[in-house]
Amino acid sequence: PSAMREVMIEVPKVLWSDIGGQAEIKQKLKESVEWPLQHPEAFIRMGIRPPKGILLYGPPGCSKTLMAKALATQAGLNFIAVKGPELFSKWVGESEKAVREVFRKARAASPSIDEIDALTVKRGGGDDGGSSVADRVLSQLLNELDGIEPLVNVTVVAATNRPDIMDPALMRPGRIDRILYVSPPDLASRTEILRLQIETKKMACGSDVVVADLALRTEGCSGAEVVALCQEAAMKAMEESLEIECVSKRHFDQALAALTRRITPEMLQ
Ligand code: ATP
Repeated sequence: PSAMREVMIEVPKVLWSDIGGQAEIKQKLKESVEWPLQHPEAFIRMGIRPPKGILLYGPPGCSKTLMAKALATQAGLNFIAVKGPELFSKWVGESEKAVREVFRKARAASPSIDEIDALTVKRGGGDDGGSSVADRVLSQLLNELDGIEPLVNVTVVAATNRPDIMDPALMRPGRIDRILYVSPPDLASRTEILRLQIETKKMACGSDVVVADLALRTEGCSGAEVVALCQEAAMKAMEESLEIECVSKRHFDQALAALTRRITPEMLQ
């Protein structure tokens, strides 16, 4: 069976405006991917090459994947999602083939964007003394990035929680040459995420639900946890009664009490 069944080409439908806050990282990604497509002459004039690969790193649930998708949607690119583990086939040769196939698809679908998730491979880390599957996948990835066939209009976006265990060879200029930290949402970003959930999605809320207050009380949460909190509060309200008119502060209080923050200090930059 081929590992390639897991590689999907899709045109995502995530807009920049679907992502609450995180303005700085949004701007940097636009510069990296939209500018070269829209203003190639400016790059030629400056004598610089657009980045081939971008690494997004940071704690889980803080919008790395959303960013990659919005980038593809808004620049009109194809998006090829590749999850790290799917590139690891136990069959010899199969994994390198899988990597080649991803890049073949990316070239065919160009302009496109690849998201290679959880790319935490480092050479020589295998049990079998240096030629582990991870090593071979990495070598093939480097071959593709260095390109006998040039990567025209293909941008690789890799996402990881652990940049420290990424192979340094991948991060050389001309390969993954832009490294961006995606932080947990700050107060302003949490406010925007809550607004998206409550106001834009029209969650019926009582007048005692105050976004600014919830933003303060979700300090240390990931974006995913803020979204989950809203869903949990709505479920608490519905548990009270399916005929309930709206979600009240007490439901958010209950949901907050049950919330575990999974981001630990070691995950932060
Ligand atoms: P991981 O490292 O675990 O793969 P990630 O950083 O790639 O996480 P995403 O998959 O982008 O995180 O986010 C997970 C979910 O959290 C999203 O589908 C979305 O519902 C929510 N989310 C996170 N950040 C935001 C945000 N800034 N605005 C809106 N929703 C967000």
